[in-house]
Amino acid sequence: MVVLTGPRRGICRACLACGKGRLFCGYLAVRPICTVCGNDNEQYPSDDFASYVTIFLVLHLLVQALFFADRTWAMSSLFGGAVAMPIFLLATLALLPFAKEAVIGFSWAVGAKRNPVASSWTDDLDESALSEL
Ligand SMILES: [Zn+2]
Repeated sequence: MVVLTGPRRGICRACLACGKGRLFCGYLAVRPICTVCGNDNEQYPSDDFASYVTIFLVLHLLVQALFFADRTWAMSSLFGGAVAMPIFLLATLALLPFAKEAVIGFSWAVGAKRNPVASSWTDDLDESALSEL
């Protein structure tokens, strides 16, 4: 099933087209051209949706753990916040690349691509014309 192939390859950090090359070349930077098959992986958008997916997952997973910890152990809210905030931060930073890879893989699976007209329009913007506004 192609709809699941894209996110699966994305989460495995593999090229969406061939499944062998690397999708990312850094923490969140997409490798523009696959070194194995030459596919343009940068044309598939993720925009802010990966951040929304990450926030959704972190909140739904860790808030339940926080409620469980609050019910199980008697701790002050200051201590609970001091423990929970770094865990939330680390979980968010750990999940964000995988969410971005899955979103890019889903974009590839459904055929969503960046709008070349909109991106060329913003590339051609004249900075002096904007300053006159
Ligand atoms: Zn490839």
